Amino acid sequence: MTEKNQLVNLSHTRGDEQTNVYHRIAEGGFCPFCWENFQKNHKKPLLIQTEWWIATENQWPYQGSTLHMLFVYRDHVDDPTKVAPDAWSEFYQHILPAIMKRYHINGGGIYMRFGNTNITGSSVAHFHANLIVGGEMIEQPTSEDWLTVALGYKHKEA
Ligand SMILES: [Zn+2]
Repeated sequence: MTEKNQLVNLSHTRGDEQTNVYHRIAEGGFCPFCWENFQKNHKKPLLIQTEWWIATENQWPYQGSTLHMLFVYRDHVDDPTKVAPDAWSEFYQHILPAIMKRYHINGGGIYMRFGNTNITGSSVAHFHANLIVGGEMIEQPTSEDWLTVALGYKHKEA
């Protein structure tokens, strides 16, 4: 079990490379999404940088996705209610349309987790949004074909 207000949750990293990078960051007590650390560790090109956001591809995309974008809020906040209203309008009116155009996205999902990473399944507490695009539906799909993301843990009845 990990601490509630930690910066990195190593129980939620995916794959050896991400685990190693985040382990090193966590040992230093750093936040991987604060700019001074992000720019050192992130190897994908920064597609959009504004006063509020960094838009880039996820270095460790979800399995089965054709595109996994990260939108990292510049300030270290852990909760979307702390995001500036102007930052939201910039996100929806400028950044998201630019990414949709660049990647010719005609269907996808956006999700944002916040707060206690022991509840959300997120590896990083610093507030960020994810955009995921999957493949096309196959004939007679089953739930096995769904692209799934971790939004938390299933509640277990006592
Ligand atoms: Zn941070």
